[in-house]
Amino acid sequence: MIELKSLSRRELEELVTRLGQPKFRAGQLFHWLHAGAESFEEMTNLPQALRTQLREQTRLTVPQVVRKQVSKLDGTIKYLWRLSDGNCIESVLMSYQHGNSICVSSEVGCQMGCAFCASTLGGLVRRLSAGEILDQIIFVQKESGRKVSNIVLMGIGEPLDNFEAVMRFLELVNDPDGLGIGMRHISLSTCGLADKIDKLASYRLQLTLSVSLHAPDDASRSRLMPVNRAVNVDRLMESCRNYFAATGRRISYEYALVDGINDRDWQADLLARRLGDLPSHVNLITLNEVRESPLKPSRRLRAFQQRLEQQGITVTVRRRLGRDIDASCGQLRRKTLGIGES
Ligand code: SAH
Repeated sequence: MIELKSLSRRELEELVTRLGQPKFRAGQLFHWLHAGAESFEEMTNLPQALRTQLREQTRLTVPQVVRKQVSKLDGTIKYLWRLSDGNCIESVLMSYQHGNSICVSSEVGCQMGCAFCASTLGGLVRRLSAGEILDQIIFVQKESGRKVSNIVLMGIGEPLDNFEAVMRFLELVNDPDGLGIGMRHISLSTCGLADKIDKLASYRLQLTLSVSLHAPDDASRSRLMPVNRAVNVDRLMESCRNYFAATGRRISYEYALVDGINDRDWQADLLARRLGDLPSHVNLITLNEVRESPLKPSRRLRAFQQRLEQQGITVTVRRRLGRDIDASCGQLRRKTLGIGES
């Protein structure tokens, strides 16, 4: 059955035309879908006959809140949603001075196998549709009463492993008659699928690309991130240079410091050399401990930061929001549903 919220405006026009309605009905429908209508009955300006046809022939996705946790420390809200097939995903809403930012999931689970990550423990269950990615924003806004101004594709899953749906999602969320969130307010985080980064570059979008680098040398990176065995650091950096050349957008590199694995001075030096004069921004992260993993957070964060800064690299340290509510991705889903636990 056609999943309505994943359809572009043109596809909605084709649909309503096929159902014997004038094209302007597609605009009305688009509006209802993106405003978070939960049933066709709510769509009061559509003729009853059309509402009936839509109910019979299409599917309207409405995720249900399974759990909601609000941080007492900083107001961060974490949602665990149940999708229409029973699978669960997470979204996190964070409030900053400049507005509200949402972290959305792109897949149910993940197949990338990063050693430090809770989301990958149970493997990939399935990819989300464009509408299901969009739903997280629509229903977080509706549920929290807060308007979302920024989006990070940094929740459960690897967005570039779900390329078509993510591109479709970007087009939908960008639409001024829908949520109208501009590309410059969107970040996409990837573990480094180089071919897909090259493909993304060809669209020349103004979004921010975040690359989860986590190590500048192949031995350490392969230990932390199996994807590095297929796409090594040289190949990844080639894609990053290409991405900057195509879009003019500075890339952000995520780097979670892990005790004894990627926190040595020589690694800071190699990272600085690798980035060279490519406009970039390194985001240092304190590793979140995952119970199933032996990896520990590093105590060398400041030293590592200084060493990079001395070599002219722009560095920020990620603020930790929602520490009291398991706000790191994958943790709530795993805890509530027992995923990946033995
Ligand atoms: N698959 C994408 C996006 C989801 S992960 C990616 O790999 O970028 C979002 C970010 O959280 C990534 O930078 C990831 O490496 C990081 N991350 C995952 N588990 C973490 C942990 N336990 N501690 C710190 N960062 C973690």
